[in-house]
Amino acid sequence: MSHSTKCAACKSLRRRCCKDCVLAPYFPPTNPQRFSRVHKVFGASNITKMLEQLPLHLRAVAADCMSFEASSRVEDPVYGSVGIISQLQEQIIKAESELAKTKSEIAFHNAQQLQQQQNESSSCKIEELHDTDEATTNSTVKPVSSKNSK
Ligand SMILES: [Zn+2]
Repeated sequence: MSHSTKCAACKSLRRRCCKDCVLAPYFPPTNPQRFSRVHKVFGASNITKMLEQLPLHLRAVAADCMSFEASSRVEDPVYGSVGIISQLQEQIIKAESELAKTKSEIAFHNAQQLQQQQNESSSCKIEELHDTDEATTNSTVKPVSSKNSK
């Protein structure tokens, strides 16, 4: 990476951007607002300290996190990113209660359907019983009627 141009951090802090500048990979000169927001919320020395304490592969994610938190704080000075988090949590709670309601409705309809099926099958049994009753009465009636015809 060429350091003929200063990174956004060094440009803002009016210092020389050295070859191993910790901030340079995460605060390019093309996006000066990114550093100015993070600088306003965290302070330059804190950003440097936090990034230095992390292994190289985690630094980009940490810089993105700081940038996100700083932007949220600028947009919402009272709650910052917490405002967004609680908004999303509310959405989750709403969605969860809707899901529970829908699940209970499904269970209710399933139970209703099962009961309907049971009622239908038990009414079939009654009809069957009724048929056999008729058959037995017919058979008992027949000899009587034949006796009467004689
Ligand atoms: Zn720099």
